[in-house]
Amino acid sequence: MRRPLFLSGFMATGKSTVGQKLAERTGRPFVDLDARLSARLGATIPDFFARAGEAAFRAEEQAEVRRVLGEASGEAAPVVALGGGALLARELRLEVLDAAVVVSLSASPAEVARRAGGRGGRPLLDAPDPERRALELLAQRALAYAEAHATVPTDGRTPGTVADAVLAVWQRDPIAVAAGERSYAVEVGRNLVAPRLGELVGSTRSVLLVSDDNVRRLHAERARAALGERDRTVAEHSLAPGEREKHIGSVEALWRAALAAGLDRKSTFVGLGGGVITDMTGFAAATFLRGVRWIGVPTTLLAMVDASVGGKTGVDLLQAKNAVGAFWQPSGVLCDTDLEATEPERGYLSALAEVVKTALIGDPGLFTLLEQHLTEVRARDRDLVAELVRRSVRVKARIVGLDERESGLRAVLNLGHTLGHALEAQAGFERLTHGEAVSLGLVAALKIGERLGTTPAAVRERTLHLLTGLGLPTDLGREPLAEAAQLIGLDKKRAGSRLKFVVARDLGRVETLDLEVSELERLAVALQ
Ligand code: NAD
Repeated sequence: MRRPLFLSGFMATGKSTVGQKLAERTGRPFVDLDARLSARLGATIPDFFARAGEAAFRAEEQAEVRRVLGEASGEAAPVVALGGGALLARELRLEVLDAAVVVSLSASPAEVARRAGGRGGRPLLDAPDPERRALELLAQRALAYAEAHATVPTDGRTPGTVADAVLAVWQRDPIAVAAGERSYAVEVGRNLVAPRLGELVGSTRSVLLVSDDNVRRLHAERARAALGERDRTVAEHSLAPGEREKHIGSVEALWRAALAAGLDRKSTFVGLGGGVITDMTGFAAATFLRGVRWIGVPTTLLAMVDASVGGKTGVDLLQAKNAVGAFWQPSGVLCDTDLEATEPERGYLSALAEVVKTALIGDPGLFTLLEQHLTEVRARDRDLVAELVRRSVRVKARIVGLDERESGLRAVLNLGHTLGHALEAQAGFERLTHGEAVSLGLVAALKIGERLGTTPAAVRERTLHLLTGLGLPTDLGREPLAEAAQLIGLDKKRAGSRLKFVVARDLGRVETLDLEVSELERLAVALQ
């Protein structure tokens, strides 16, 4: 419980009562945001609200939330009960989701009206029909409350039981992917499948467990045992392994398996495997009966650090990678790093290129962690792998939260991929793995950034040193750059004759440049 716990949700859902209970139980400080605010303002909330208006109140409330966030973390991280509207501003909500664990408490409108005890004391419910007013406000705020690490219903439950459920979320320390009402949490750690998979699937009565033949042999039994706990039907379908199988025919096989097993709209798909399997399971779930829930259980480092966040699902079409697909967020993701222990070495090392990329984009601490623990990283120390996954997922979740549909900012994730994709394609998708190509692409982006006056030489040098230390290729002199440069124009991110090219400004800070494709081709060839 390294981050503070924020209890969010509508008024009268029991945030203060549950918060106090949790603080007592854990020995952590308790902050009632409204009480603190009231003391600071020298007025009760209803009085200030009536006198200064909602906008002024919200500004004060936001400032108070930021003060609390800045105060304590680690062993002293507090339990904070928020006012019902405290996280309505999305910018602040995303900050809190990153720096704290947020649990929304929910209650039905009838229960809210009953607990609020009619009129008085709750200015927003001061209406002739409080239940109707609660219903209206809940509808307006549904999206804000859904963007949390978890939602815990409170109708018919005692504060003690609610506190148990909230504490369990806090202890899991999940990472939230904020995607409106399709928000979800990524859990990272060791031995997660047995205790968590069944719980995540919840009351669903039928499940399709998807894997590939390698993963099924090694890990399906664990998943099967976790899923079979309740009286559930668990159908299984396993595909042949590898990118070659990532086509619509395989997805059709999944649809057919789901149909044959009698799955319905309330069923859940579980994708247990590398990125090929999670991408296809997500796409099959997005399209089966026009959309069912799915849960990702990635088993490769790449699928954990990259494919687990953002809900991009799909298949390849002929040579075009991921040409057909949908954004379809999973209901949850379990990154159980014990599953990754059996991944072949080359796949693991290749995925480290994406971890280095992520560190360059948004986490200088992750960069130094890699530098300082090169030996342990290469030896695949399980706890360290979990930390690499956690930190990478956190950076990607932050970016996806700001730009779920890739309309702008999410393009920064492309660092190293422009030249990387070109080199991978030039090598016929055989000689270089995706990660190896990204490693070379990163080197190219850093050198080009340096030539354009954006990337400091020290950042280029440190990154090259790190990539080499991780056993990744960095020698552009051996690559057919002239031939690969001709493929840059095929990049999916091209707009006319121009292309957004991502360069590093510093460790943890990148910038997107708008370049002519021909200029970039020239710069790439000059790297030889
Ligand atoms: P993969 O799924 O093909 O797995 C690589 C190989 O490792 C396969 O042979 C598989 O059977 C085997 N394997 C997987 N887990 C194993 C384990 N624990 N033990 C032993 N063997 C194991 O490939 P990948 O590298 O995981 O993922 C690549 C795919 O991910 C690409 O198709 C890419 O497009 C996709 N991807 C998607 C996103 C996204 O945002 N959706 C992001 C990055 C990559």
